[in-house]
Amino acid sequence: MTKKYNFSAGPAVLPEAVLQQAKEELLDWQGSGMSVMEMSHRGKEFMSIAAAAEQDLRELLAIPDNYKVLFLQGGASAQFAMAPMNLLRGKTSADYINTGSWSKKAIAEASRFCEVNVAATSEAVKFTTVPAESEWQLNADAAYLHYTPNETIGGVEFPLIPDAGDVPLVADMSSTILSRPLDVSRYGVIYAGAQKNIGPAGLTIVIVRDDLIGETLHGTPAMFDYKIHADAGSMYNTPPTYGWYLAGLVFKWLKQQGGLHSMAEINSRKAGKLYAAIDDSDFYANPVDHACRSWMNVPFTLADPALDKTFLEEAEENGLITLKGHRSVGGMRASIYNAMPEAAVDALIGFMAEFERKYG
Ligand code: PMP
Repeated sequence: MTKKYNFSAGPAVLPEAVLQQAKEELLDWQGSGMSVMEMSHRGKEFMSIAAAAEQDLRELLAIPDNYKVLFLQGGASAQFAMAPMNLLRGKTSADYINTGSWSKKAIAEASRFCEVNVAATSEAVKFTTVPAESEWQLNADAAYLHYTPNETIGGVEFPLIPDAGDVPLVADMSSTILSRPLDVSRYGVIYAGAQKNIGPAGLTIVIVRDDLIGETLHGTPAMFDYKIHADAGSMYNTPPTYGWYLAGLVFKWLKQQGGLHSMAEINSRKAGKLYAAIDDSDFYANPVDHACRSWMNVPFTLADPALDKTFLEEAEENGLITLKGHRSVGGMRASIYNAMPEAAVDALIGFMAEFERKYG
């Protein structure tokens, strides 16, 4: 097999060492005589896998003891509903910052449950920036403030953690979690679908502060109740066991890389050189405000969109795949998550220069 560099936004590249280990352990996990996929989630083998994964994630993110870590299903999209269902707690409105497609989905879902106050939006400038914090219209009586630290489609990343005062801060970190160290204590809830920087699709991680657990909207289904999952150690029903195991391998791999300080250094370097290549050319462009450019998702356009198809075809011939941008923005997008080797970014930059030389 020729390994390709896969720039997909998610499901996305996983560390090769992790896939190798999963392959070695596929039929027989550490002498247990079973595949992890075949194990009872309540058996001692899987319980040890689950506990180690949680412990490693807690270490990586320095998660304080007054936060629960939940290993759920339903994707980040289920969290769009779980956030209001669990966090309204008698209040009737919530604040949202709108910085792109995923913020909008979160807003649409929350609107089913409460009054949504869009405290700030960058829609008028096509989501190419984060609105200045001084202009946000926050409501002191909001149940929570929700934002999307990294918009996967637009490639816009917050350069700051919003100051929500006493209002709990809720973050959809699907496409940026684990890309750098994080001060978890600033948040009420952090959630992320796994399929970008954590592991395979099917697992969703929720980090929730203890005092926000336990008061759901009337009629909330058990599967949407943080307390039910927290009390059951994420085993109220059958959890996504194989995804949980693979996430655990990714966490171990991250620790071996030197943890999140090292990842931040590498990610900043990878993104920095790709943006520099784009900015140094008249052939490629990225519209995002420099201060808000994503380290993980780098959209870019070609001077002549008629060349898009050729670009994608020739990139593929060079082993660089899934570079097509989201249909809503067009052009290209290179997702360069933790597991994307720096050599892949170098290869992409080299290919882009060659393509420009040929067609520019
Ligand atoms: N939020 C963000 C920022 C995303 O990138 C995505 C998926 N691309 C989602 C939410 C939706 O996640 P899921 O498919 O896990 O529901």
